Amino acid sequence: MNQDTICALATANGIGAIGIIRVSGERSFEIVNKIFEGKNLEKVDTHTVHYGFIKEENEVIDEVMVSIFQAPKTFTTENSVEISFHGSPYIAKKILEVLIKNGARMAKAGEFTMRAFMNGRIDLSQAESIADLIASDNEASRKVALNQLKGGISKEISFLRGDLLNFTSLIELELDFAEEDVEFADRTALNQLLNRIEVKLISLIDSFQYGNAIKNGTAVAIIGKPNAGKSTLLNALLKEERAIVSSIAGTTRDTIEEILHIKGNAFRLIDTAGLRETEDEIEAIGVKKAKEKVDTADILVYLADASTTDFSDDIDMIKSLLRDDLKLIICATKIDEVLPTKYDLVESVLRKEIDSEFDFIKISAVENQNIQDLKNELSSFVEHMKSEEGNVVITNQRHFEALNKSLDSVRKVEEAVSSQITTELLAYELRNALEYLGEISGEFSNDEVLGNIFSKFCIGK
Ligand code: GDP
Repeated sequence: MNQDTICALATANGIGAIGIIRVSGERSFEIVNKIFEGKNLEKVDTHTVHYGFIKEENEVIDEVMVSIFQAPKTFTTENSVEISFHGSPYIAKKILEVLIKNGARMAKAGEFTMRAFMNGRIDLSQAESIADLIASDNEASRKVALNQLKGGISKEISFLRGDLLNFTSLIELELDFAEEDVEFADRTALNQLLNRIEVKLISLIDSFQYGNAIKNGTAVAIIGKPNAGKSTLLNALLKEERAIVSSIAGTTRDTIEEILHIKGNAFRLIDTAGLRETEDEIEAIGVKKAKEKVDTADILVYLADASTTDFSDDIDMIKSLLRDDLKLIICATKIDEVLPTKYDLVESVLRKEIDSEFDFIKISAVENQNIQDLKNELSSFVEHMKSEEGNVVITNQRHFEALNKSLDSVRKVEEAVSSQITTELLAYELRNALEYLGEISGEFSNDEVLGNIFSKFCIGK
C-alpha cells in the first residue's frame, strides 16, 4: 500500500477551545515528528497521547497534544496521528501548511472514510452511515445511522447474498456438466429461497418510507378555509418547540417549512408561508395551491371550523386532496366557542360524506385543548411505520434503488425458474441479482459510484 499521507482539519472550521487535525498514511509519524518538539513520535507506543509543540523551523506555532495510532487498529487502518491544538482557524491553517511542506498532502472530501472502506475496515453502507451520523439532527436519525454503522444493513444484505451465491454456484456447476443433464440445484428449494429473499427485500424497501421520515422528516400539510385557525394552530404547535424550531427557505421564494420535533421524530410543516402572517387571513387558498402542498405531504391535517355551519366546501376540498398513501387527520377547530353537541355533529357530517378513514380530533388552539392529541397522532404515524419494519431501516436513496433493482432481478429469476428457461439464462439472472445486492455493501462498485458517494463527505471525514 503505497499511498500518500493525507491531512485535514477534522473539527468544524471556526473558533473553538480545541481543534483537531488528522493525519493518515504510512509516513504520518515521520512527518509529524519532523515538526514536533517533544518525545520522538516514531518511538512511542501506539494509542498514546503526547504533549509538545508544533514548530515551523525554530518558531513555535502552538502548544499541542498529539495522539499516535499505529496501523492497523485505526479508523483508516493506516498509521494515523491526531493533533489537538488551540482551536483557531489561523493556527489550523499554519499547522496544515507545515504538514504539507514536510510531505503530507491535503485530504480530499471523504478521503479518510474512503480509505477505511478501501482498506476493508468498513463496507460501503457503513461508510455512508458515517455521513448520515454526522448529518443527523434528531434522535431517530442518529439511532438509525448508528445501527447501520454497526453493520445493520450490511448484515442483512450479505446474508441474502450468501444464500443466493450458494445457489448460483450450483447452477454454474450444472453449466459445467451441461451435457450430462444433471440438476445440482434443487429447483423447489431455490424457489423457496427466492421467496424468502423477496419478502426480505420488500420489507427493506418498505422501511425506506420510515427511513425517509426520520432522515428528512415526515411532511405535514395544514389545510383549511381562510379563518379555520391554521396559523393559530401552527403557533400552538410550535410554541413549546420554539427553541428547536427552525425555518428553512424552500425552493420557491415564498415556501417556508417549519420543523417540529415530537418524541424525537421530525415533522416538516410544508409551506407555512402566509400562515404566520395574520394580515394575510383573507388569502383564499385555492384547490390548485392546496393540491400542490398536499402532493408532497405524508399527512394532511385538515381544519374545519366548528363554529361555522356549512361544511360542503370542506368536504369537496378534502375529497379532491385525498390519495391512497396520504394519512388524513381532520381537526374540528375552535371547540372552546361551541357546545359538544355541535362538534359531534361536525364529525357525523364528515364521516357520512367522506368514505376514507380519518382521525378526528377536536381542538382549540387558543385554549391549547387537545393539541397534545394531535401531536400524539402525528408521532404514532411514524412509530407505526417503525414497528412494522423491525430494526433494519433503509435511509439511503442509493440503497433504495439498488434494492428495487435487486427485487426486479430476483423476480426475473423466479420467472426463469418457473418457466424452465435454459440454465444459461437462469445463471445470468442470478448473477444480475447478486451484483445488485453487492452494490449496496460495495462488493460490486465502480469508481464513478465511489467518487460520487465520498465526494458528499466533508473534508477531514
Ligand atoms: P387561518 O386563516 O386559517 O390561518 O386562521 P387564523 O389562525 O388566523 O384564525 C382565524 C381567527 O380565528 C382568528 O381571529 C383566531 O384568533 C381565531 N381562532 C383560531 N383558532 C381559534 C380557537 O381555537 N378558538 C377560538 N375561539 N378562536 C380561534
